[in-house]
Amino acid sequence: MIDPKRYLVTAALPYANGPVHIGHLAGCYLPADIYVRYLRAQKRDVKFVGGSDEHGVPITIRALKEGITPQQVVDRYHALIKESMGQMGISFDIYSRTSNKVHHETASAFFKTLYDKGMFEEKETEQYYDESTQTFLADRYIIGTCPVCGNPNAYGDQCEKCGSSLSPEQLINPRSALSDAVPVQKKTKHWYFPLQNYEPFLKEWLLEGHKEWKNNVYGQCKSWLDNGLHSRAMTRDSNWGIKVPLPDAEGKVLYVWFDAPIGYISATKELTQNWADYWCKDDTKLVHFIGKDNIVFHCIIFPAMLKAHGNFVLPENVPANEFLNIEGEKVSTSRNWAVWVHEYIKDFPGCEDVLRYVLCANAPETKDNDFTWKDFQDRNNSELVSIFGNFVNRTWVLMHKLCGGKVPKLHEDILDEKDKGLIEDIAKTKEKVESLLEEFKFRDALFEVIDLSRKGNKYMQEKEPWIVAKKLASPNLPIHREASDPANAESLPGYETAYPAKNPPLEGREAQKSIDNCLHLCLQLTANLAILINPFLPTTAGKMLGMMKVVDKMLDWKNAGKINLLSVGYSLREPQLLFRKIESEEISFQVEKLKSGASLNPSIGGTLEPAKLEDSKKSTETKNPPLPVPINSGEGKEAIQFDDFAKIDLKVGTIVSAEKVEKADKLLKLQIDLGFEVRTVVSGIALDFKPEDIVGKQVVVVANLAPRKMRGIESNGMILMAADKAGKLHFVKPETVIDNGSGVS
Ligand SMILES: [Zn+2]
Repeated sequence: MIDPKRYLVTAALPYANGPVHIGHLAGCYLPADIYVRYLRAQKRDVKFVGGSDEHGVPITIRALKEGITPQQVVDRYHALIKESMGQMGISFDIYSRTSNKVHHETASAFFKTLYDKGMFEEKETEQYYDESTQTFLADRYIIGTCPVCGNPNAYGDQCEKCGSSLSPEQLINPRSALSDAVPVQKKTKHWYFPLQNYEPFLKEWLLEGHKEWKNNVYGQCKSWLDNGLHSRAMTRDSNWGIKVPLPDAEGKVLYVWFDAPIGYISATKELTQNWADYWCKDDTKLVHFIGKDNIVFHCIIFPAMLKAHGNFVLPENVPANEFLNIEGEKVSTSRNWAVWVHEYIKDFPGCEDVLRYVLCANAPETKDNDFTWKDFQDRNNSELVSIFGNFVNRTWVLMHKLCGGKVPKLHEDILDEKDKGLIEDIAKTKEKVESLLEEFKFRDALFEVIDLSRKGNKYMQEKEPWIVAKKLASPNLPIHREASDPANAESLPGYETAYPAKNPPLEGREAQKSIDNCLHLCLQLTANLAILINPFLPTTAGKMLGMMKVVDKMLDWKNAGKINLLSVGYSLREPQLLFRKIESEEISFQVEKLKSGASLNPSIGGTLEPAKLEDSKKSTETKNPPLPVPINSGEGKEAIQFDDFAKIDLKVGTIVSAEKVEKADKLLKLQIDLGFEVRTVVSGIALDFKPEDIVGKQVVVVANLAPRKMRGIESNGMILMAADKAGKLHFVKPETVIDNGSGVS
């Protein structure tokens, strides 16, 4: 489809029988969200629909095991899944659920239409039946040995070990998943959808018409079609699900894979009165994002159903991802070998974009991939912090230092090859990212964006405006290069300070022009980075907008590639750190948590007991001296000059979070909002204050105290405390709450 009028993007409906893990995100929700955010930035007409799949056997089995009703199961997990999706920035236009009335009506009507057209075969067959629980055993109600790979715990519909699609009769030594009983055969009637009748249509539409689909998807579909399709029952014996809308169908419901994809239609109906535009008009581009285990349902069965119905468009693409393994092993929810999204959000508050980044950079787009916590840390520290964040931070610090906090002029008369090269890189990157996103190559697109920030760093390093400025200020002084980058870049890893002099000295006005050009272009590059990173890391893009004091409109995709996005003379805010370093302690905590299976019940709020951590905390770090006690001397100290006092940068901040530092009785790790950034400060006040009691309190911070590491945590400042005669500590703070970042003198 060359130029669709509108887009309908769906992401697989997760079963509401457990929380979502990072494999779900990497598989379909994140790529779908990136694609949708990109389309929205292009001002295209797009709807992004999803929801919980609340029918199906896993839900009834969990309800039986927990002794609650299926409705209670889905209510609990639908809420949790929806919340996790929202917190990770998955920007559904609607996140619905298949237990909704509108869905029951839509799916029933769909079934009835096919029935009335004579599209089903009605068959009575013998099926496995568990006499002890009086249940027919289809799908996951029945377990047995896989005839293909010998896995003793294969399900009646699929072997999770080898991926084979199965039917219950194929299982060796079948047993009931409900009672372990050996099942008997019993007659039952069902409605079958003759997929074989749609083979010619599917071969033409898919194998001939969609050769552009991803290899992994196309290949799986081709193998299904080459092996020949068969009739498949579209109903089940159960009380949980959508009742078969026929008079002689008591105790029967629609097969979950019949009703679930219709959930996309129902959700669109809930979202907009114009739903039919998105589902029935040929100039709609329908794209299904799914994981590889759903390929057959979205590429074979659902399109055949849509074709049989006749009123609906077919998917234009189904960019399914493969699986994401964790630390070298397959995700297993039963073994709790998973990284749960709601737990990640709790453990790494404010780091949602970091997870989005790592999952995209490491996405299983063409083959199964592996998530490791070490890689998570490395990508954060050496890519987000050291490359992207470093470039933006240096640009901002230098612009404030050398250009008075305003966007300097671009002097076209002295543009050199390096300037022109950067301008060209900005334009080219936009084109590349765009074409990669159109082809669903999200990893490669993200690499291009990071690479552009790497080019920005290189450009700045070559232009070295801080050296030019020093020369300008004192032409005869020798320049100590190591100390002269005001962005203090040496504290950021990956930044080289020992570079040789490359630029000949420039005189007066020329020198200022050179500084202007460098910072002007770096600022325009930052604006471009915000636009380009926005589909991937929306929170980060939002922070960048704040620093630039511009509105969302700047993120319009059409602005990318331009170098006139920030007006000359416009004053910009103080820098804000975009990413924080992730410490090795945080990583070993997570690895241990995973290995100890600490949150054994993967339900809400499974947390790790601190005791379980002890083993992982093999302390290799050097013993740090105790924290300096806050100034507390009745003794007269030596007199100092005002200038000495003035060197201390005191600022008011608010404690936004506080937590105990492991194995350090006195220490609390505080996050303090200083208005322009949030700082980590380690403070020796744990004996006097509980973490939960001090969140929200204002404090005075020594903001320019050199960073130091305590228990492996880098502390960036110190809070002022007064100690009374008994040695009890009290906060020193303004009498009333004032703006964070206010100076104290
Ligand atoms: Zn198998």
